[in-house]
Amino acid sequence: MHNNFLFDLDQTLLDFHASEYKALGIVLESNGLSFSEEIYQAFKDYNKALWLELEKGNITRQELFVKRFQYIFSKCEGDASALDPMKINDDFIRTMSVNGVLMEGALEFVKNVKDNIPDARIYIASNGATINAKGRIASTGLDKYIDYLFISEDMGVAKPDAAFFDICLDRISESVTSCIMVGDSLSSDMLGAKNASMESVWFMPSGNIEEAFIEYDINYTADTFEELYVVLQKWATHAR
Ligand SMILES: [Mg+2]
Repeated sequence: MHNNFLFDLDQTLLDFHASEYKALGIVLESNGLSFSEEIYQAFKDYNKALWLELEKGNITRQELFVKRFQYIFSKCEGDASALDPMKINDDFIRTMSVNGVLMEGALEFVKNVKDNIPDARIYIASNGATINAKGRIASTGLDKYIDYLFISEDMGVAKPDAAFFDICLDRISESVTSCIMVGDSLSSDMLGAKNASMESVWFMPSGNIEEAFIEYDINYTADTFEELYVVLQKWATHAR
């Protein structure tokens, strides 16, 4: 039996927003357009609104990709008249997937878990696009320490669905008590662990922590990678 650590990816080990910011800047500026904090914020806000429209079935994925760049072109200084928003969108996705940004201290933390906690196996359990997750992981060097990636797009089911964790457990082939889920999100990571009857660590918790602790059957919290390491080390050495 191993100590099976399941880590969420975004805002747990990698900084999704920092990658997005970096990629948007690279793509806009290399096409002669301006980029700023305000432009990134406008992109984020409009993108979020479009994803809601997509979820409601009002627009297609293709329309979302085109519209977000048409909109952002109108916010930038520079001549966008010859630019194809779909091509820019493709460039943006590709650029983001090779520009992973680590949460500060994440690489050292993961290495420490892998090297110093006996029988540690490290898994990623992430909701998102496979190319984006795999590319960003490889571009940061995290991939060296990871035993397997569970990505919702590959699996056809997402956290917090218990079916997502069933697939993970099937592959891990060890009991659920040998696993612990670490993540920043209550609605996907902590609820998912609860649905799967798996122990959990809420990483960098915020809001009403005590209330959430009870509602989501959370076992531990940690505010920093140092604290998280101590929690995981204790969990691993206690008889379960
Ligand atoms: Mg997350």
